[in-house]
Amino acid sequence: MRIDKFLSQLNFCSRNDVKNFLKTYEVIIDDQRILDRSYEFNPELQKLQIDGEITFYENPIHLMIFKPIGFLSANKDKLHPCVVELIKAPYHRFEYAIAGRLDIDAEGLVILTTDGTLAHQITHPKSHLPKTYQVTLDMEFKHEKELIKGVMIKDGKNELYLAKALEIKTSQNDVILKIDEGKFHQVKRMFQAVGYEVIHLKRTHIGHLSLGNLKPGEYRQFRKESLYD
Ligand code: URA
Repeated sequence: MRIDKFLSQLNFCSRNDVKNFLKTYEVIIDDQRILDRSYEFNPELQKLQIDGEITFYENPIHLMIFKPIGFLSANKDKLHPCVVELIKAPYHRFEYAIAGRLDIDAEGLVILTTDGTLAHQITHPKSHLPKTYQVTLDMEFKHEKELIKGVMIKDGKNELYLAKALEIKTSQNDVILKIDEGKFHQVKRMFQAVGYEVIHLKRTHIGHLSLGNLKPGEYRQFRKESLYD
């Protein structure tokens, strides 16, 4: 695909503005600065960088972000700052679906994607994509077996269901919990069901994707495959 078509499809600039865009921004494909708007670019095989840092491997765009405490997992809100507002140029141009929402008082890995189907796959209860949480409780945790067996809790529609831990590791008040569902307040409700209050909640993994060394508010692009392998 021609680079002018590619950049305009991604809303970096209109097709008429591509010449200026290529002059203003350093567009590099496979280590070569591109100034010719008719350059044939293959997004599946070639690496594209814009101003040294952005690499688009593919369209749609998938971002992993470290949602800070106090931010809503939403696009816009009148009262609270939202996770999508943290996205700066050039990624801010896209419309993101949010996959794997976290409560306002929780932090950690949230996915923003322009691919609505992927967002649906990640969040759908039947996808069974595991999610891992670091949890701090109000007291030393001694109910691993109960959570592995499962506890009856209510979902967002007030219906009871059996919520089970896939894996659980404990060190006094600190627990690492892996579950393969993501219903309304699931982690807090699982611990409440056995008598604990969650003091701090951080999601570290969605599928195989890990927060890694991202800091609160930071984000980076990832490839869809890294969720699954
Ligand atoms: N479970 C919760 O209770 N809260 C979250 O934010 C995520 C999972």
